[in-house]
Amino acid sequence: MQAIAVENSNNKKLGGMSTTYASLQTCPKDCPFLKSKSCYAMMGPCAVTKDRIGAKRANSKLSIAKQEARAIDTLSGRWPLRIHTIGDCSTAAAARTVAKAAKRFMAKHNEAAYTYTHAWRTVPRSAWGKVSVLASCETVTEVRAAKAKGYAATLVLEKFASDSVHFVNGVRVMPCLKQTGRSRSCLDCGLCMKEASLKKAGLTIGFKVHGPSVKAAMMLAAKNPVPKTPKASTTL
Ligand code: SF4
Repeated sequence: MQAIAVENSNNKKLGGMSTTYASLQTCPKDCPFLKSKSCYAMMGPCAVTKDRIGAKRANSKLSIAKQEARAIDTLSGRWPLRIHTIGDCSTAAAARTVAKAAKRFMAKHNEAAYTYTHAWRTVPRSAWGKVSVLASCETVTEVRAAKAKGYAATLVLEKFASDSVHFVNGVRVMPCLKQTGRSRSCLDCGLCMKEASLKKAGLTIGFKVHGPSVKAAMMLAAKNPVPKTPKASTTL
């Protein structure tokens, strides 16, 4: 099994939502967290699940998405669904497959389904249908590119300049309410389930880097080089 769904998960951040986990084989190869081995799925309780669903034999992304869709169909639909605590859909066909299952899920009790994706460059927003999907970005240039493709976005930062809404190089950032202690869980907060409202308000969700943070911080620093200050002139 390379994809599973968990009803009413005991993941503290999610606060009792349901969720899915898919093998890291589903992630786009150019995901910077995957490449730098700094994905949060590589440590803590997530790593145990990652190893459990990580098959030695590579299966196609579509066949894993089909497994995930079947797993979503087993959920009662009584709690919102966070798709991909681990994993992604990095082809349009995979995203459409999971999105169709999410649509069936949402029809049960009118609960939301939402996710994040590093595959926003290649998977059209339309493939996700009614799922609230946020493009995972590490630079403001990427946030602008994702928005141009019709996505709302998230931006990973080394630290927050403020716990309230603030601008990062022209991008209006709302720091994650759980990370800033303003919400007990994603279930209580729910902002990421409201892609349309985020777009309307021009808001990008900010995340402080998590996971193997030293590696992740190094990856972020490499992607966001500090501009060199010109040397002081010695000529008058
Ligand atoms: S902003 Fe809200 S919904 Fe989004 S990750 Fe943070 S706590 Fe969860």
